[in-house]
Amino acid sequence: MEPPLTKHIIMLPFMAQGHLIPFLELAHQILHHNPSFTITIANSPLNINYLRSAIANHPSPPSQIHLKSLPFNTSDHGLPPNSENTDGLPLSQIIKLFHASAALETPFRVFINDVVSRSPLVCIISDIFMGWANGVAKSFGIANYSFTTGGAYGTTAYCSIWLNLPHRNLVDGGTHDEFPVPGFPESCRFTITQLHQYLRAADGKDEWSRFFQPQISLSLQSNGWLCNTVEEMESMGLEVLRNYIKLPVWCMGPLLPSKMLKNNSDSGSGIIGQRSGKQPGIQPEKCIEWLDSHPVGSVLYISFGSQNTISETQMMELAKGLEESKKPFIWVIRPPIGFDLKGDFQPDWLPIGFEDRIGKQGLVVRDWAPQLEILCHRSTGGFLTHCGWNSVMEGLSQGVPLIGWPLAAEQGYNAKMLVEEMGVCVVLARGVHSRVTKEEVSGMINVVLDRVEGGKGEDMRKKANKLKELISASVEGSSYKAMDDFLTTVISEF
Ligand code: UDP
Repeated sequence: MEPPLTKHIIMLPFMAQGHLIPFLELAHQILHHNPSFTITIANSPLNINYLRSAIANHPSPPSQIHLKSLPFNTSDHGLPPNSENTDGLPLSQIIKLFHASAALETPFRVFINDVVSRSPLVCIISDIFMGWANGVAKSFGIANYSFTTGGAYGTTAYCSIWLNLPHRNLVDGGTHDEFPVPGFPESCRFTITQLHQYLRAADGKDEWSRFFQPQISLSLQSNGWLCNTVEEMESMGLEVLRNYIKLPVWCMGPLLPSKMLKNNSDSGSGIIGQRSGKQPGIQPEKCIEWLDSHPVGSVLYISFGSQNTISETQMMELAKGLEESKKPFIWVIRPPIGFDLKGDFQPDWLPIGFEDRIGKQGLVVRDWAPQLEILCHRSTGGFLTHCGWNSVMEGLSQGVPLIGWPLAAEQGYNAKMLVEEMGVCVVLARGVHSRVTKEEVSGMINVVLDRVEGGKGEDMRKKANKLKELISASVEGSSYKAMDDFLTTVISEF
């Protein structure tokens, strides 16, 4: 059905769960704030299907959210069938998907042309990885706002590091492990270990640079940026972001269902419902039941997000360390590096007899878990995470301290901020080559989950709880005002 003739916003997320989820939540929040808009989210057919089932699972799906499927043929780009999203692709293929995403430009332009002839199009909100949408918007005289699904600190570091290549000489030289990043104060130095492997080798000519440099540069030409963060939580990150991009920045965070932000201190999560269109490998109810049988703050949740995984050796040590820690855990397992991410679960990635031995100690979930429900539960006391920004916001909004294992994108910079600026995280490992032992794993789990007054874990928990309060207060405070200001700006510039 064609969208009605009301003020229209078109959204264009990148083709990944970690982008679709916050874009959809942004759409919900815009409509919650001002129901007079119509919002259409455009993407490739598979991602539109994900969004369709996520909307259908929403307790009260807003009728003003429409979906537009843009033609996209994976085989035109050397991608396997049904691989229109990063979640089933190994790293070597993900870069192909990044480049292939630009093929959406032509059908997107045709779609915008059609929309402007039928309804008042107020703006396009595009992913910072879809920088080309700025050109499309300009050619129709429409404003374009870029939405970074990352936080302010991580996004600034990510953009600045990509736009100031190369960093390879630092690695080759070996002596200058620390380096300044343009946009950050001189005292805030980054290290080579915080860079993802493809960035260490990037020189502006490789396939990663050829995607990220132009897309980020184009996004810097937009009318302003939206960020899934909270003004009071990331004041340093926002200062560097605003100084660096020299554009208005609106903090819309936390982009989470409002139910998740209710106080969960003396009950279970109370939220059951599938937020993304991906099928969980376990029924949310089963997870909640399992969590209900554990004491408050006793369970460690482990997930590396929607697209990353660790090596087979690391998986073995992680499993042994979990067992040795004797702490209860829920672990979402995706096949390790080198295995088909969409393939069947094979118990030989794990120590022999692992699943039988752990018995009641742990819950092993294949591929996809109801993360939001798990993090909201009072029994969850720690989160071993790859530090993807959605996971960070989800964990901190519940006051859960983090064990970081950054793997890609801006995750290493997020981890740096979480450790140095916020004190809510300890880093266990970085990337897929980092050597990690079962002793380190179990030692760190015990530090973070132990609730000894004056101990490191308790200190992290207190800091995480302070952030939880800031995040919660922003919903009717700074983020509410930012949304108000953004929508006023959008309408006044229309
Ligand atoms: N997610 C989930 N279940 C899983 C894995 C991930 O619900 O088993 C969700 C998670 O709640 C988050 C998103 O997928 O909203 C992952 O985004 P993030 O930015 O943390 O990481 P990415 O997947 O983009 O690396």
